[in-house]
Amino acid sequence: MARGTVQIVVERCKACGFCVEFCPTKVLELSSAFNSKGYHPPHAVNPDKCSGCDLCGMFCPDFAIYGFRMKEAKAEAAKPEDENSAPEEASSAS
Ligand code: SF4
Ligand code: SF4
Repeated sequence: MARGTVQIVVERCKACGFCVEFCPTKVLELSSAFNSKGYHPPHAVNPDKCSGCDLCGMFCPDFAIYGFRMKEAKAEAAKPEDENSAPEEASSAS
C-alpha cells in the first residue's frame, strides 16, 4: 500500500522532467497528453510506490506538483473534532 500520494497541477507544468528524474521510487513519467501550453505533464505510473516524500515538489521550478504523506492527511482530518471537544468539557463546572 502507498504511504503517500502525489498531486499534479497539470496547467502549471512546463515538462522539465525534474520530478520524474528525482523521484526516488520512480513513481512518475511524463505523459503523452498535452496541457494548454503544449507541454507533457507527468502522471503517476506507479502510485503504490509513492512515499509522499515531496522531493518532486521541492525540485519543481513551477510549483506544479506536491507529495503528501498519508499520516499527515489523516492528522489534518482529525483536527476539527479534537478542537470541538475541548470547550464542552471545560464548561461543566457549576
Ligand atoms: S518538475 Fe514540475 S514543471 Fe517539471 S515536469 Fe515535473 S511537474 Fe512539470
Ligand atoms: S512524493 Fe516522493 S515518492 Fe511520491 S512522487 Fe513525489 S518524489 Fe516520488
